[in-house]
Amino acid sequence: MIPNKPDHSKSQRLTQQRSAVLHAVEMVRTHPSAEEVFHLVRKELPNISLATVYRNLHLLAEEGKIREVQFEGDVLRYDGITGPHEHFYCRSCRTVWDIDRSLSPQAIHDVERSMKASVESYNLDFYGLCSVCRRKA
Ligand SMILES: [Zn+2]
Ligand SMILES: [Zn+2]
Repeated sequence: MIPNKPDHSKSQRLTQQRSAVLHAVEMVRTHPSAEEVFHLVRKELPNISLATVYRNLHLLAEEGKIREVQFEGDVLRYDGITGPHEHFYCRSCRTVWDIDRSLSPQAIHDVERSMKASVESYNLDFYGLCSVCRRKA
């Protein structure tokens, strides 16, 4: 008699897919789209489908392990850095840059004063031309 062993292969595969998707988003600093994540993950897991990548991205975002970011006229992208930081979006090359410095406390204070409210968080995106595209322009 062979003892009944629980089948772990399916859950193992799910975990493997999930961690491959997470790893791909964390590895690149380019704020990749789902399609870009799909191409990265496929190098490791050739049989993974785009739908599976989408599903895992959604779940990881819900768990707070990655962050969804969206810019005007662009597709939904994913960010491996979940801590607060702002973005600069280049309208020419569509690169998303992380901005290291945050909004000055004075600017937040100004908003609180004019709204007579307390700011708990904010989301600010900058749009323009990056330094590379400015040089070309
Ligand atoms: Zn640019
Ligand atoms: Zn970012």
